[in-house]
Amino acid sequence: MTNNSPVPNRHPSGARSPPPAASRDVLSTPIAPTSFYANTSPSRLGSSHTSYVPPEASPFREPELVSEEPVDPHSLQDTVMSTTQDWGDVGDSPWGFNSEWAGKVWEAPSAQSVVEIDGRSDEEELNWCDPSLREKCARPGPGVLPPVLSHLLHDSVHTLYSVSVKPPDIHSNAEWAPSADEVRTAVPHPNAYYCKEHNGWVFLLWRFSSVLPPLVANYAPEHPLPDMERRKKAQPCVVEGEQTSGQVNMTHHWHRYPRAVDGKALNPPFMQSSDGSDLLDLYVCCQCSLYCLASGVVKGVLPRELVDEFTRDKKAHPSPDKTPKASIIAGWETVLTILENRLFKNEVRFLPVTRPKFQSKVGWNETVRRVFEILGFRADVFSESNSELALHPPDTHPTTPEGKFNRAKLLRAWVEIAAWLEIYKKLIKDSLGGYIPFEPRAQVDNAREMIQSAIGAHVNQIPRGLLPISLERATGLDEAWHSLGMTPSSYSPKLLCFAYLAQCRCDPANTMVYFTHLFNIVNTMIISNETPPQELQTLIVEERTRYRYTLDDLKEHVSVLGFGRDNDLGVDLDDDVDDEFILQAWRTARRRAWRDVSKGAERRKDLDEAMRALADQRASRVLRQAWEEERGSGMTPDVAYNTLEVPRDVDESMLITVFLMRVEDQPSQADRMREAMSVIAEVTDSERLRRFLSTGRDPGDTSSTTAPDMPRGLNQLGNTCYLNSLLQYFYTIRDLREAVAPLAHADTKSFDDSKFTDDDLKRHRVGGRLVTRREIQRSKKFVSQLAELFFNLEYCEDPAVTPSLDLAKLALVTSQDEEEDDQRTNGTDSSNDTDATLVEDVPMRAPQERSSPSPVKSPADSVLGKRHREFGSSMDVDSPSEPASVPPSPPRDSIPASQVASSSKLKEPEDVEMQDVSRAPSAKAPPLPPRKPRQVDDSVMMFGRQHDVSECMDNCMFQIETALLDFQQEKAAVEDDKTTAEDLILRLFYGKKRQRLTALSAADDARHQSSIHEKEDLFSHLHVNVSEEGYDLYDSLGRYFDDVVELDGQKKRMEVSLVDLPPLLQIQLQRVQFNRETQQAYKSQAYVKFGETVYMDRFLESADPEKKARAKAIQADLNASRDHIQRLTEGNHAPFAPALGNVADFLGKQDIVDLPEADGELVVTVRSEQDLVVSELEKERANAVQLKSQLEDVWKDNRDAAYELTSVFIHRGSSPSWGHYFFYSRNLPDHPDSWFKYNDSSVTVVSKDEVLADTTGSTANPYMLVFTRKGYEAIQTVKRFDPQTLQDMQE
Ligand SMILES: [Zn+2]
Ligand SMILES: [Zn+2]
Ligand SMILES: [Zn+2]
Repeated sequence: MTNNSPVPNRHPSGARSPPPAASRDVLSTPIAPTSFYANTSPSRLGSSHTSYVPPEASPFREPELVSEEPVDPHSLQDTVMSTTQDWGDVGDSPWGFNSEWAGKVWEAPSAQSVVEIDGRSDEEELNWCDPSLREKCARPGPGVLPPVLSHLLHDSVHTLYSVSVKPPDIHSNAEWAPSADEVRTAVPHPNAYYCKEHNGWVFLLWRFSSVLPPLVANYAPEHPLPDMERRKKAQPCVVEGEQTSGQVNMTHHWHRYPRAVDGKALNPPFMQSSDGSDLLDLYVCCQCSLYCLASGVVKGVLPRELVDEFTRDKKAHPSPDKTPKASIIAGWETVLTILENRLFKNEVRFLPVTRPKFQSKVGWNETVRRVFEILGFRADVFSESNSELALHPPDTHPTTPEGKFNRAKLLRAWVEIAAWLEIYKKLIKDSLGGYIPFEPRAQVDNAREMIQSAIGAHVNQIPRGLLPISLERATGLDEAWHSLGMTPSSYSPKLLCFAYLAQCRCDPANTMVYFTHLFNIVNTMIISNETPPQELQTLIVEERTRYRYTLDDLKEHVSVLGFGRDNDLGVDLDDDVDDEFILQAWRTARRRAWRDVSKGAERRKDLDEAMRALADQRASRVLRQAWEEERGSGMTPDVAYNTLEVPRDVDESMLITVFLMRVEDQPSQADRMREAMSVIAEVTDSERLRRFLSTGRDPGDTSSTTAPDMPRGLNQLGNTCYLNSLLQYFYTIRDLREAVAPLAHADTKSFDDSKFTDDDLKRHRVGGRLVTRREIQRSKKFVSQLAELFFNLEYCEDPAVTPSLDLAKLALVTSQDEEEDDQRTNGTDSSNDTDATLVEDVPMRAPQERSSPSPVKSPADSVLGKRHREFGSSMDVDSPSEPASVPPSPPRDSIPASQVASSSKLKEPEDVEMQDVSRAPSAKAPPLPPRKPRQVDDSVMMFGRQHDVSECMDNCMFQIETALLDFQQEKAAVEDDKTTAEDLILRLFYGKKRQRLTALSAADDARHQSSIHEKEDLFSHLHVNVSEEGYDLYDSLGRYFDDVVELDGQKKRMEVSLVDLPPLLQIQLQRVQFNRETQQAYKSQAYVKFGETVYMDRFLESADPEKKARAKAIQADLNASRDHIQRLTEGNHAPFAPALGNVADFLGKQDIVDLPEADGELVVTVRSEQDLVVSELEKERANAVQLKSQLEDVWKDNRDAAYELTSVFIHRGSSPSWGHYFFYSRNLPDHPDSWFKYNDSSVTVVSKDEVLADTTGSTANPYMLVFTRKGYEAIQTVKRFDPQTLQDMQE
């Protein structure tokens, strides 16, 4: 193979054709490798230096390992053996470099300004994540810069030497002497370099050739080989002088292909004898035609350890006449001489080791013995007669295999020791103390600079020592440097940029890893308060605009999108998360970004960046496409509002209306309108708008949270006003809810009335009267519907449920209304005639107030309460004229009646008829027209007549009680047995009160002894008048429990006391007042102060009489005082003080009309009058405050009948006939300081401050308060189905 090859690897200085035949002359004149040292011109580069002529047949090179096939030298010409001609031409004709071609294929990358770097593709770098593009481009993967390559080639601390052999000047025994070829081939290969530290050789070869050496068959590199076309055409990366044209690279970018080339295929072949593995590592520059082949260390004959040991031994035990260093040299020279004697003089005699000369030069010990043993010299006794130890030389006969092997080994050892000695002598120079060493057997030349220059790592090419202090001190950047393919010592800002860009170019898949490392390095400077060089700053900025992110950024991006346990989505972003989920997360987050309008734009930018990063990271076309289309899109809130042409404070209903209108007007703009709506939905965080957008249906006000344990709202059903509040209230009453629950989904057939007989019916009374079959059916239907609603409130997942129409109708319309309606429409009602008579048959169990519905209604009645108190349901009172001293008072103070009640009549309540005030003959209040049988105008709602809330509640309670009647059990039961569900209503809501009517004064009392009336009633509501400002609940109740009424023209005192209090105390604040002058009902907006607790002790029948008397006296004074204040501040011309002031102003200034009486004196009088009124008011107010305080003092220790506020019903609006209703319920029993606000479909949590707030100046104020007896847990506000319980059961 090697025989006929043209001579390769001539020294690169120019001698092209040395004689092919071996010649001792040539060998005797070694070529000085110095001639090409430090020559960086590519045309001069080369690694071949050792004077060498291929041998005819090398005994040393183990010819059996070399293919004997003849090799056509021309076939190798373009492969491995790029000759000097090849690269000699480089300088003249730069490899067909074509700038036009380069410009076409490789787009100018955006960061080209920072450093010189070629071969990039913007498209590829921007789409680095695209695996198919990466596959198409087949980039060679991560590379390294020349300084790293020099480390890879051989230990960078070691110096490699080129070795030129000089045979010894020995001519004796020439017959046995090694031939010139044998001597030359003692060097393993012309491209082998000797390392003294290793006592071994390294094969290094570099070439400019676009054709790589033949790779090992089936070589499968981890990364593709660089683009050979490009390598062929490109200019060398590293050139001297000016670049002629086109782009250049700062330096080479080396890519490693380990064990890619078989050394045996080279010419001459390279074979490592040690392990039989001759595979060489291939390094290829991706941007030019330079490549490099390198072996590992080929071990020398003597192991490095043994060489070191021998040397140390000589140094430690020098001969007496030599310095330690001279001893080392002398020792090795002796070994060398022994080898030469054997090889060149054919010395075969034993060598006694005990002779003085040997002892002084070498000595004898285990190390020396091993050295000679490895060299083939056997240490043995001299002879049988002589026990002297001697070395027996090995057989080196060239004709025997053993001889051949030994010759080659000794020659190799000889050249290695010779090289070692020469290098050693160079290093120690003059300190030999007069010792004169041998003539050199080899010329050694330091090849470091040559090699460094060849691969582009020379300090002239890449300066060293520019590392900033901050980076020098930094720890933890090793990985960064390593990953970028450079060393810290070779750092310069530009080279770092180059390294980064080159890695991104050649290994796009890891772009983010490289950016992370680049950023870490730059950031290290910043952290150390060092300004990073401009190039690096520019590069980072440019790369950021190309959507580069660090791995830390990626974590941030992931959390910006809401991933992670502690973030919005609460899930980690792992492989299970699909693109669609990420897309939705992004879109949602983008919309929600507007919730913080000031930071919305910034946040959306972050989100877009995050999305882009994730799309890249996941190499997702879907995400990337969505990002391309949707990023930066979207209206700002301003544009959204402008698009819909609505003001920012528009309410949701209006917004939806406007939206629908705009879309109808301009269907082509529908998408744009929708986008505007979706932006507004997010700006305002409106669930209602979102649901409207997704379903096309306005869900109503759904701003409440729909947490599973939140109470559900009730959708508004027509104009059902307070009904939703009432239904929610019922739901919070635990016993009621539980009693009703079993009737949900009741079979309508069970309402069949055939189950009970007339006798059964007669055994039951509800509200003191018998009930009809029809009422029973109706009630069961009502309760069944109610139970179904309750079921929905407990189980429904929607934020609100809708009550059925039937339920609303049955709740709002009484059975009596219904019958009247039927009679009106059908003329007669025959179906219930029989039942109706039953009412007359049996005395009522309870007095009238409990009866429902109230038989008489006034058109002025309101849902907020009747304007009169039906106290006298059993007392017929007359309507007297009002005393002049009494200010215009609410009509309930003067309930007229056609009959005077007598005590005897208390027993006959059926005779009693409640009268309406409108019928009262009164001078000041002319009678209103009697109520028509059916008012269909002002008091009609969608279900007919409008009842006040207590009537509606009574109606509901009546039906619940009726539905719960137990006819089966009743047959055997005792009537008084009240343990079943049927007395639930009575038990929960009804108390007992005692009314006493007495003469107003003692004198009257004396005259009308007989007129003291007393009776007991059940009650479910306390109706408290609300008219005066500055009253608290006790004041209002006080008026209820002790009042003055007029009866038959006589003023009577009516006292009420409580005999029994129910668990649920319902206090209705009667806000409907009647203005006699206008004959109009109006709503009192007066604020009645109430707290969380009310103590009813003072109103009890059992209250301390002495305290009662004292309180009564104080109350009388307080009432008088308040009346006085009222006179001064109310009435036609009230308040008087300002009015008087105005009069005085007018009189004092007017000069148009001549008023003789209006002289100065009058003005003074009026002014003084004004002052008087003012001071009197002040005095009276102070007095009232003091009296009130005295009054409260009387009762301050009586706190047994404590009731806690649980429910508050609110009406908002200035009219008693319409407005908005909502309801507060305390979150009992667990969160008494928290309240729910039930506002139709919306249920929200509010603080108690809102509930107890002073509503002065507001039209939203309570019309009913419910208090619950302390300790009686009647209210369980939240009753929601917990799916967890179901799971627990299943487990
Ligand atoms: Zn080494
Ligand atoms: Zn290169
Ligand atoms: Zn590369």
